[in-house]
Amino acid sequence: MSDTVLKKFISTYLNTDVAIITLVTIGLITIITIIAYSLERRISRSSPSYQRITVHMVEGLILALSMIMLQQIFHILNNGSIDNGWLYANAQLTILLYCMYLIRNKITLIINILMPFVYHSTFNMDRLDNKHLPFFILSYILLILIVLFIYRQTEKLQNSEWKYLIMQLLFGLSWWILIWVDHSFPIYEIINMLVVFLIYMSVIRFCERKLQDTMLNYNDLQVQANYDELTGIRNRASLDKASDELYNTYSQEKVPLTVAMFDIDHFKEFNDKYGHSTGDEVLKHVAHTIEREMFLTDTKGQLFRFGGEEFIIIFRGKTPQECVSIITDLRNTLLNTPLILNGQRLDVSISFGISKLTTSDNSFNDLFNRVDKYLYESKNSGRNRLTVEGKTYDFNDIK
Ligand code: GH3
Ligand code: MG
Ligand code: MG
Repeated sequence: MSDTVLKKFISTYLNTDVAIITLVTIGLITIITIIAYSLERRISRSSPSYQRITVHMVEGLILALSMIMLQQIFHILNNGSIDNGWLYANAQLTILLYCMYLIRNKITLIINILMPFVYHSTFNMDRLDNKHLPFFILSYILLILIVLFIYRQTEKLQNSEWKYLIMQLLFGLSWWILIWVDHSFPIYEIINMLVVFLIYMSVIRFCERKLQDTMLNYNDLQVQANYDELTGIRNRASLDKASDELYNTYSQEKVPLTVAMFDIDHFKEFNDKYGHSTGDEVLKHVAHTIEREMFLTDTKGQLFRFGGEEFIIIFRGKTPQECVSIITDLRNTLLNTPLILNGQRLDVSISFGISKLTTSDNSFNDLFNRVDKYLYESKNSGRNRLTVEGKTYDFNDIK
């Protein structure tokens, strides 16, 4: 007896069609997730409304296309017949509900609310008689309420597994009553369909979690690729990536771009005298002190570790003269915060080269070579100095 029930269950719920539709659903949801993530990153609450509307329209379109694709694939699988329709319906419901959580906008909401009519228009409405009409109206009202509730409470629902489960259950229930109105299957089958829907949704949610983890790991990899492991500030690869964009933007504009390069004076002595790990501590100390001071004083510069004990600061929209006073402050802060290591006070001084991008520069590298040359001049003049556009100053002489 139980053997035949099991066989029936397997043949109904664990066949090739189920596998294909499940894979297709996971595929569609993955595509929707990736597109939604990359689109949503481009807009914020402060973006112009036409941009937000465009993004929401595109997301809505993708959802609608997924519905159509799922229907087409199902028809191909089933040679146009509607047997096994539960399978296709549950897959559609999964995507509809999933998008309510993923893409929170009015277009998703409208698609969810109008979907029962789209669905019913493809079938005959013979069963929508006096006996079935109340079921239709009540379950449709229930569906609207649930969808509106999810739309408003998305975050709260996502943080609580059981609330999420109840919403899923009510969403599935209202939908399956709506479908039952249209199809003559025994009413108790609604329970079966609901159970399958919950299982289906859990499988999809599990896969989505894995997908999101992968995407987060990918972000971690990006952090590793763009940030220096020792100091945690941007690395040279990150500077190289930015340099073309900087050149293209600022070589045309009237807005100035100034680059400062600095190098720790006699850094090798820290290594030689106290060991390599102390050298590392000095590097971290310099990077963190400068980065923190730039943050606290709201200096809109970007700090990069260029390599070894050399660093770069990019100042967008600032002239070299404006940068001289900023850099003097940064350097004074470093001077006033010596590194104390094992009770030992380590004073660190730095030398700078500073120059501005000009129209005669053919690439970012031209500017870069100039800055490097100026830094070299600061070193040659006795270190602990800065050279701006060829002129070297002692920090103490700068007012
Ligand atoms: P100058 O005043 O002319 O800049 O002299 P300096 O000693 O600072 O410069 P030099 O180029 O002679 O030495 C830089 C040293 O920095 C050599 C290299 O071994 C060391 N170094 C490079 N990267 C690291 C690092 O990540 N950690 C440590 N501890 N040392 C590093
Ligand atoms: Mg040095
Ligand atoms: Mg050096």
